[in-house]
Amino acid sequence: MINRPHMYAIAIGSNRRHGRFGRPPQVVEAAIARLDAAFGLFDASPIVLNPAHGGAGRDFANAVAVVESDVDPSEMLGALKAVEREFGRRSGKRWGPRVLDLDIIAWSGGKWRSPGLIVPHPRAASRAFVIQPLAAIAPYWVVEGNLNARHLAQRLARRPPVRGLTRRAGS
Ligand code: ADP
Ligand code: MG
Repeated sequence: MINRPHMYAIAIGSNRRHGRFGRPPQVVEAAIARLDAAFGLFDASPIVLNPAHGGAGRDFANAVAVVESDVDPSEMLGALKAVEREFGRRSGKRWGPRVLDLDIIAWSGGKWRSPGLIVPHPRAASRAFVIQPLAAIAPYWVVEGNLNARHLAQRLARRPPVRGLTRRAGS
């Protein structure tokens, strides 16, 4: 029997410099190359810079990669965690500075749940830094319900800005 490869959308994030690769955008670039070596890259989005969220302090560089693999999502998560460790990530504070964060946004097999893993990623649809890069390379990928990446990007763009951050006097 031929094993049909699955497609995976992987969110890549970094907000800490790496001794060899350099600043977060270069860490993300190196991670894309690493995913290509490990799985075969189908496509990768441009790398975008985003202000830090959740009090992590420093700005993030983010991108999304689509890779092909025969492995199931648990095995994929194990492989991604090994790459995070290779890049020097230590487990610790969830929102703390991290050299590299690799999350499974979605896979072509639909829904998946196993201990410590939920796919599609439960918070992906509400994160512009995930949805915008995904929409750039896979606009028709259905992420949540009937909504594809392009729909979700449009929905996020329509959201009213956070109150208190708008119309500052003099700016
Ligand atoms: P986050 O990615 O939410 O910023 P972590 O990288 O520290 O935080 O991940 C916390 C845990 O979330 C991981 O150890 C993993 O077991 C779990 N997890 C659940 N679903 C997913 C998913 N779709 N992709 C990656 N990790 C996931
Ligand atoms: Mg993660």
